[in-house]
Amino acid sequence: MEIRITRTRNPKKKPDENSLVFGHDFTDHMFIMNYTQGEGWHDPRVEPYGPLQLDPSTMVFHYAQETFEGLKAYKTDSGDIQLFRAKDNAARLNQSNERMCIPTLDEEDVIQAIATLVKVDQDWIPKAEGTSLYIRPFVIATDPFVGVKASSTYLFMIILSPVGAYYKEGISPVKIYVEDKYVRAVPGGIGFAKTGGNYAASLMAQVEAGKKGYSQVLWLDGIERKYVEEVGTSNVFCRVGNKIYTPPLQGSILSGITRDSAIKLLRSWDIEVIEERFTIEQLFEWHRKGELQEVFATGTAAVISPIGALSWQDNEITINNNEIGQLSQRLYNSITKIQNGQLEDSFSWITSI
Ligand SMILES: *Cc1c(COP(=O)(O)O)cnc(C)c1O
Repeated sequence: MEIRITRTRNPKKKPDENSLVFGHDFTDHMFIMNYTQGEGWHDPRVEPYGPLQLDPSTMVFHYAQETFEGLKAYKTDSGDIQLFRAKDNAARLNQSNERMCIPTLDEEDVIQAIATLVKVDQDWIPKAEGTSLYIRPFVIATDPFVGVKASSTYLFMIILSPVGAYYKEGISPVKIYVEDKYVRAVPGGIGFAKTGGNYAASLMAQVEAGKKGYSQVLWLDGIERKYVEEVGTSNVFCRVGNKIYTPPLQGSILSGITRDSAIKLLRSWDIEVIEERFTIEQLFEWHRKGELQEVFATGTAAVISPIGALSWQDNEITINNNEIGQLSQRLYNSITKIQNGQLEDSFSWITSI
């Protein structure tokens, strides 16, 4: 793929690396490519970052036919630039595209587009401990048409945002509300796709949990409201004795790449990981018996988020004295060190660009 590059004449002032706010600052350039029925994906280009001009009837505004991804680029101590598991993100983007009736992209082209844009804006990759360049690819339906159908035109775009360490004063556990009124996903729905509608549908639960003093919700399954599924926009793990439980991918759960990295690392350390459904009652039972040692969530933004407290139907439990658990910390250290080049990439997760 031949990517045309137009550089900005007005580079922006870069934000202070030590006070980056997640998703707040964007770099000087963006990637953009069009799809038209008949012609396919065409005209890949890097342009100065800026607003789009779209007709008010543009389909994505009305019916939310869109998909997105999230991954990160890191600069190593020796100055190399590396992407973490970019091939997996490109593959997942296509899984989401298929579910949303969006034409798939060539996965090598997606990686080439990411690599080209990151190189153009490489001075934006922060170097301070725990920082990285967040990469947000997305696809939107662009037919100017008010009516429910699959669009015949699309834009694939990538924007970049320098981000800081998610936890400024070290990793601190979060308080989670077990949601038993609203649901996130149901079998046959779109829970496994990274698409905007899932997040719009989750806001009410998040707002209500916030008012009660919780930072996120734990989602139960959409049918019986008893099986543990996800935490906010992250996958969830429980350590019971020396075994790790995590819900299996059965269509309603997003197939997290950090989830997969955690499972592969844990198994490489000879720790048993059980991908089986478990109920919230079972989780509270493990706690009652003193077997619940750690609960943590995984996702690209924070990598590992320890959960210090869980509230379900007016019962609140504290987990591991509201401190980060030993395995949560070990996973966090290993994943972030592979990402920034301080630990050998023995799983071939890194693409050097
Ligand atoms: C993105 C996301 C995750 C985490 O996926 P990663 O690839 O680890 O970042 C988990 N759940 C939901 C709902 C998500 O959107």
